[in-house]
Amino acid sequence: MSAHINENFLSLKESYLFAEIARRIRTWQAANPADAPKLIRMGIGDVTRPLPKTVVHAMEKAVREMGVEETFRGYGPEQGYDFLKEAIQRYYDGFHVSLQLDEIFISDGAKSDLGNILDLFSEDNTVLVTDPVYPVYVDTNVMGGRKIVYAMSSEENDFLPMPDPSVKADLIYLCSPNNPTGAVYNREQLKAWVDFAREHDSIILFDAAYECFVTGDLPHSIFEIPGARDVAIEFCSFSKKAGFTGTRCGYTVVPRTLERNHGNLNHMWLRRQTTKFNGVSYITQRGAEAVFSRKGEKQIEENIEYYRKNAKIITDTMDKLSVYYTGGKNSPYIWLKCPGNMSSWDFFDKLLNEAFVVGTPGAGFGESGEKFFRLTAFSTHKNTKEAMVRFEKLVKSMK
Ligand code: PLP
Repeated sequence: MSAHINENFLSLKESYLFAEIARRIRTWQAANPADAPKLIRMGIGDVTRPLPKTVVHAMEKAVREMGVEETFRGYGPEQGYDFLKEAIQRYYDGFHVSLQLDEIFISDGAKSDLGNILDLFSEDNTVLVTDPVYPVYVDTNVMGGRKIVYAMSSEENDFLPMPDPSVKADLIYLCSPNNPTGAVYNREQLKAWVDFAREHDSIILFDAAYECFVTGDLPHSIFEIPGARDVAIEFCSFSKKAGFTGTRCGYTVVPRTLERNHGNLNHMWLRRQTTKFNGVSYITQRGAEAVFSRKGEKQIEENIEYYRKNAKIITDTMDKLSVYYTGGKNSPYIWLKCPGNMSSWDFFDKLLNEAFVVGTPGAGFGESGEKFFRLTAFSTHKNTKEAMVRFEKLVKSMK
């Protein structure tokens, strides 16, 4: 007798992207004198603006409540407090999406739920991911032993792959605005995916972690698309919206009526969460609630506007240099074609060694990412401006 491991873990590829970036930076640092120009990091996917004041005050108040017998709270509902779910419900009303409170599940972030949702699905399911891809979708399914098929994207489809009738899948991951490409599906394109899922009885796992960057008439939620309630689950997060990357809070929307082979997915998710999860702290949920207050919304908009301004500094530079890119308009990510037709790692080295700027090589996000590069808008204005001056000089020197 011996314990048997899940051998699917042996099939995981080492996630070497950020480790390799760190290694190359260390090599650069060792080879460069201390008075070399300051390295500017434009590869980070983490926010830099602090929590909005309203959020901090709400959390401080909640901490004080927890320290007083009359207002102390122990275990909360696993699926989240109504006060936060009601705030989210009102937020969705703003997109004309009507949600019931029991369709909203509060969690400690989108990443956990994106992985945990797979408890609901059989290992026999085939999974479709778009390439380039947020690696969590791939690795969680490799761990579960599922077959993965890829919808490749490129300049031709502006990094917004559409359904291919010859490639069927049971689970379909869509991320819009996308990480890493910053590309955003419009209503018509999302409708084509919803119709495809309806036709094939697939389920769309829709990652809306960057919806707060969307402007104009582009959809924030898949549930804005008619028919999506029968085929989709949506994941969202306070991480990028309100600086909760370290505080941890997100939510998942599972429609009440979503069913497959006699199983109700809303009931199954409730059962899964009440069994394996004990909820997000009261303090954090009070902080998240404050995100939707009038003051909170205003402060959050200021932070998002800060990142948007950085994105514009980057896209203006790309426009000036006639470099092809996606994103940056409704997203904190700018996905650009490596100048001089370089491979993404060669361009990474050139940018590091000659412009002292760090980005993320597209090849790290999948095959379609080769020859592309990701810059993020999460730095400071000062650094973003300086990085773009250096970028421009470098690209001009290549011509
Ligand atoms: N989904 C995407 C596409 C992301 O890029 C990220 C984080 O970078 C997440 C989900 C994770 O969000 P959270 O911080 O809520 O776990």
